[in-house]
Amino acid sequence: MLNFTRPTSTASATDLVWPFQGRHLVSELMGSPGAPIPLGQLMSDFPTVTDITPVGFLDDKPVFACILGAANMDVMKYTSGNLFALIGRIAGEQFDVIGRAYQLLCWERDHRHCGRCGRETSLADKGQSRACEPCGLSVYPRISPCVIVLVTRDEEMLLAAGAGANRRFYSCLAGFVEPGETCEQAVQREVMEEVGVEVDDIQYHGSQPWPFPGQLMLGFTAKWRSGDIDIDPDEIDEAIWCTADNLPPVPPPFSIAGQLINGFLTSLS
Ligand SMILES: [Zn+2]
Repeated sequence: MLNFTRPTSTASATDLVWPFQGRHLVSELMGSPGAPIPLGQLMSDFPTVTDITPVGFLDDKPVFACILGAANMDVMKYTSGNLFALIGRIAGEQFDVIGRAYQLLCWERDHRHCGRCGRETSLADKGQSRACEPCGLSVYPRISPCVIVLVTRDEEMLLAAGAGANRRFYSCLAGFVEPGETCEQAVQREVMEEVGVEVDDIQYHGSQPWPFPGQLMLGFTAKWRSGDIDIDPDEIDEAIWCTADNLPPVPPPFSIAGQLINGFLTSLS
């Protein structure tokens, strides 16, 4: 269980660290997937360990994240994988904790200098923010709200394959909330923009942090009101109406899209 209070002490050799190379989390080959590694061990096995970032307390012990740089790793000892690859292999709560580590690492890396005056920033407010003393700007980790919506019409669901996606599966429609917009307005706008369909009866379902690198997915259901599917090819490859009997490949149940789809199918049975 992670305590979100960030350690204020410097990491010692025995402290545990989640190491990242780009978007990839590095784990010990023989250890549990996603388990943090002692910092001293990493520093002796990798020439460049940088950006050691406090994350929180795991079972009352301070835990950190770090960047390993482009160093080669001993493939007999370590393995690395995209955070996406951990989905379904580790508990959802553990995935969220590693996601927090990755988000904080990206946030600290990207806010070393003040966006207003360009001077160096430093951790402030018990590690909750980065502050620029000369101009007084405080920057907190940025979370970007995204709506994700399952549109239904009687017993049908509207699912779409995203343009340029590596793995072809069909999911709910999603998009970022624009400044000045409510989540419900974002749902209506995104659905109209992506598939040309008008929706109403928008109901909140639940949320899920999505650390790629800082989205918060806000799940909704909505009912079709009018319009035929007319896709925006920049965003969508294909959108279809489908039922439980002709379900295409869909996201795993761990994801909020999977939960929305499963929830609808359960409500029919
Ligand atoms: Zn400043």
